[in-house]
Amino acid sequence: MPEAPNDGPATANCTHLIEKNKNTLQFIEDVTSNPDNVQQQVLSEILTQNANVEYLNRHNISGHTDRETFKKIIPVVTYEDLHSDITRIANGDKSPILSSHPISEFLTSSGTSGGERKLMPTIDDELKRRSLLYSLLMPVMSQFVPGLDKGKGMYFLFIKSEAKTPGGLVARPVLTSYYKSSHFKERPYDPYTNYTSPNETILCPDSYQSMYSQMLCGLYLNKEVLRVGAVFASGFIRAIRFLEKHWSLLSHDIRTGTLNSIITDLTVRESVMKILKPDPNLADFIELECSKKSWQGIITRLWPNTKYVDVIVTGSMAQYIPTLDYYSNGLPLVCTMYASSECYFGVNLNPLCNPSEVAYTLIPTMAYFEFLPVHRNNGVATKNEKEKQQLIDLADVKLGQEYELVVTTYAGLYRYRVGDVLRVVGFKNKAPQFSFICRKNVALSIDSDKTDEVELHKAVENAVNHLVPFSATLTEYTSYADTTSIPGHYVIFWEVNENGSTQIPASVYEDCCLTIEESLNSVYRQGRASDKSIGALEIKIVENGTFDKLMDYAISLGASINQYKTPRCVKFEPIVKLLNARVVSNYFSPKCPKWFPGHKQWNNVN
Ligand code: AMP
Repeated sequence: MPEAPNDGPATANCTHLIEKNKNTLQFIEDVTSNPDNVQQQVLSEILTQNANVEYLNRHNISGHTDRETFKKIIPVVTYEDLHSDITRIANGDKSPILSSHPISEFLTSSGTSGGERKLMPTIDDELKRRSLLYSLLMPVMSQFVPGLDKGKGMYFLFIKSEAKTPGGLVARPVLTSYYKSSHFKERPYDPYTNYTSPNETILCPDSYQSMYSQMLCGLYLNKEVLRVGAVFASGFIRAIRFLEKHWSLLSHDIRTGTLNSIITDLTVRESVMKILKPDPNLADFIELECSKKSWQGIITRLWPNTKYVDVIVTGSMAQYIPTLDYYSNGLPLVCTMYASSECYFGVNLNPLCNPSEVAYTLIPTMAYFEFLPVHRNNGVATKNEKEKQQLIDLADVKLGQEYELVVTTYAGLYRYRVGDVLRVVGFKNKAPQFSFICRKNVALSIDSDKTDEVELHKAVENAVNHLVPFSATLTEYTSYADTTSIPGHYVIFWEVNENGSTQIPASVYEDCCLTIEESLNSVYRQGRASDKSIGALEIKIVENGTFDKLMDYAISLGASINQYKTPRCVKFEPIVKLLNARVVSNYFSPKCPKWFPGHKQWNNVN
């Protein structure tokens, strides 16, 4: 298997940097030239390392490490199939159930099961693998944008709250785990991980103080900034909105070289004060730019040396492309990587491409990848029971075909369905490159929340109970992720049959909004209540007959009248317009739904 590049620091020394980039690019060449061999070795390593774990023994793999035996006897599974093993680990069973290495913590996925975040067991070793994937990004980028070592990146990075399982393991999102690890905190100087945000500002648990201090440092160092970004597009747009609200406080701090007393975290204060000096000219400039009526191109105005915006705009994040284009005056939007709590998958080797053309090359050393073919019937994915078992290997996928991604990881997931649908759009050497098509079953998403139709339906059913005393009934409903507001919010269009004579008060509809929010999964509620990354849910009441008009419109576009079903989520702009044109009243959730860190059942235990 090709040697991974040495993770050692790149220094400001130009020759060293060039050499390091060359080695990294060579590594990518090597692993993509013979992906099948690499994959075979990865599987063999995983199975050898975990030969004695309970899960594999249960399936009688008896020490076999070859692909054929593995495929024959190990079933393809979903999270639900692992639930009881994961609960045992969470409750403190330290025996080797999934992995021979001790489970170091749980990574809490934004995918949910039973309304709670999925828990992905991980091992210490995985941090190295994640660091490796990160280390590929800048050498790739530097081929297209030279000189990135001559300045800084302004990235808005945040940690989220963590919880403890009843057995004492930490449960937190993968990025929180990474930023708190020595791989990030104690990284040696490297021009490619030279950020405007001091570590202390990223590691501040208070999201307001974290954002304020990161924005302040970014503004203060504005001339040095060569690239800006956040993990997801939604997070970057939230940062711009923060600036819209707080620029006068921020520029005051820059003018005086002092830090606002709202920042009470002492480590943050200390780290910012090491950087900040009074700069009245910069403060004047910021005030001039921010007080202009139009914020078009604000990124290029305030950070004039910025070459690109580094944010994920593939998948559901594509809805933010127009807003980002507006604020950045059309700077390249760069999606560098594709990753998850289960495993980090791959990188974009052509990062300056158009967002619609982004293709991720899965790095064959990260995990053992398999692919479940997905067939579409009139745009709707169909399942073929037989094919379900016939998983395709990385080296055998076909150009143009869509697949669901299945992974076997070093941390102890075996033939695990991630839930993402990918399409093969090209090849790097012999390794396929994939465009991200969708996360299966996601109807609504604003930030990292993923709400499916079933969940939405149950939530609406709960809310409708508020209408019973008024003898009113819900005729039809659909939903829409409105990203024109910042943060974006869920809109539910309701057509209500008011049978009773009493008019339904606004407060009742507001209660309906809150009931829907309370019924949604914990990632949604955390986004609303803690991260403030999702705005208040809105119910829009539409005039009677609106959903008939919607059906007429769908049929005029070719839908079959016999098969027509009201879509539970709409995205197509003319349909959203049709609905919005018939709104008679609208209501917002009056407060945030309840959310606590950790799983419901752990909170009950404590
Ligand atoms: P999580 O488990 O919360 O870390 O979320 C991982 C999921 O986020 C993936 O399985 C994808 O559905 C989505 N995701 C991650 N990276 C990308 C990307 N580059 N483009 C589109 N979706 C992504």
